[in-house]
Amino acid sequence: MTGRVALVTGASRGIGHAIGLQLLRRGADVAFAARNPEPATAVLAEAESLGRRAMLVTMDVGDLESVQAAAAAVEEGLGKVSILVNNAGITRDQLLLRMKPEDWSEVLRVNLDGTFYCTKIFMKDMMRARWGRIVNITSVVGTLGNAGQANYAASKAGIVGFTRSVARELASRNVTANAVAPGYIETAMTGSLPEEVKASLLGAIPLGRLGGVDDVAGVVAFLCGEEAGYVTGQVIHVDGGMVMA
Ligand code: NDP
Repeated sequence: MTGRVALVTGASRGIGHAIGLQLLRRGADVAFAARNPEPATAVLAEAESLGRRAMLVTMDVGDLESVQAAAAAVEEGLGKVSILVNNAGITRDQLLLRMKPEDWSEVLRVNLDGTFYCTKIFMKDMMRARWGRIVNITSVVGTLGNAGQANYAASKAGIVGFTRSVARELASRNVTANAVAPGYIETAMTGSLPEEVKASLLGAIPLGRLGGVDDVAGVVAFLCGEEAGYVTGQVIHVDGGMVMA
């Protein structure tokens, strides 16, 4: 990936942070984006020690003007982006009966509108360069559904249809678009799950453990690399075997 510029959204912590680090270690220069990217500050020193460039970018993915401003800052700081990882995501869990319209809208705004805005802004340079990689982070929940997550599941299922459409639109320009669907990964997002819920989850995971952030980051990094150039429109489940299709 030497000479490539990557942007990862939601990279201040968790899965996005691990993806950014993997891309740096594989040779890319990487922009780490979040509403508050400061928790990722240590990556600047890590990039320097690897002989790469990294930058922190403030961006609300669900706000088109914020994405446009961040895109301009990244181009000035690192150059044109040819690898985009749409990872930023939120949950606002509630049973449908009690789900507030604002919790529905906010999850759709960040997870789905955010993926649309970032892809729309960054794909143009990839098309011009006749080379690009787009990886969107969906979820096992987008396939299986989950009680209490109708908003989140709808946003993640939407990402799958979006990814396949983008893959078809951009294939002739040598730009691939794929989705990665993590199962239950140990991060801040799942940290608040009660222990008894985690214990019952294990029963539904053939590999018998929650995933780690690097389980996801390694697959994303593969899809961003040269060797995945003939893979597009796919949804790769990284879920310990929860979904087998
Ligand atoms: P975390 O909550 O640990 O991290 C979320 C990241 O997204 C943070 O960097 C956060 O930073 C950023 N973010 C949140 N809202 C916005 C926004 N509006 N604009 C830009 N950045 C934003 O989540 P995970 O690492 O667990 O999850 C990452 C992705 O993986 C998500 O899309 C999630 O849905 C998906 N996923 C996670 C699973 C899991 O088990 N953990 C399972 C399946 C999918 P800040 O708040 O500063 O903006």
